[in-house]
Amino acid sequence: MKKRKQTIRFDKLISKFEKSGFSVYQKTEKQLLAKSAKPSSKKRQTKAAIFGLIVEDEYEIHINKNLTEKEKQLSLLHELVHLYDPTLSETDTESQAKVIFRSLSEAEMGYLDYLMA
Ligand SMILES: [Zn+2]
Repeated sequence: MKKRKQTIRFDKLISKFEKSGFSVYQKTEKQLLAKSAKPSSKKRQTKAAIFGLIVEDEYEIHINKNLTEKEKQLSLLHELVHLYDPTLSETDTESQAKVIFRSLSEAEMGYLDYLMA
């Protein structure tokens, strides 16, 4: 696994997503569990819940619809980082998502909400 020292820029993340053909969906925990059975899926989760996942061969990103707005945005960023750089480890993907999240403007947060609408 390669380490990424530099933070990925939000506009680069979005530009990659827009060219990718992926779509974003909000799903219930039960629907997420079913999707997470796919071998090609990567999950962001705790013991208690799946926050989000990406299914690469189906061009789908799924976010748990029962999360808070902030957790949804963070989960979407996490999945977008996977899409941007699939070689990053889970730990590096999560730390990238957190750093990007802290730097977001209101407009950028609004754009994340729009992608999940
Ligand atoms: Zn992940």
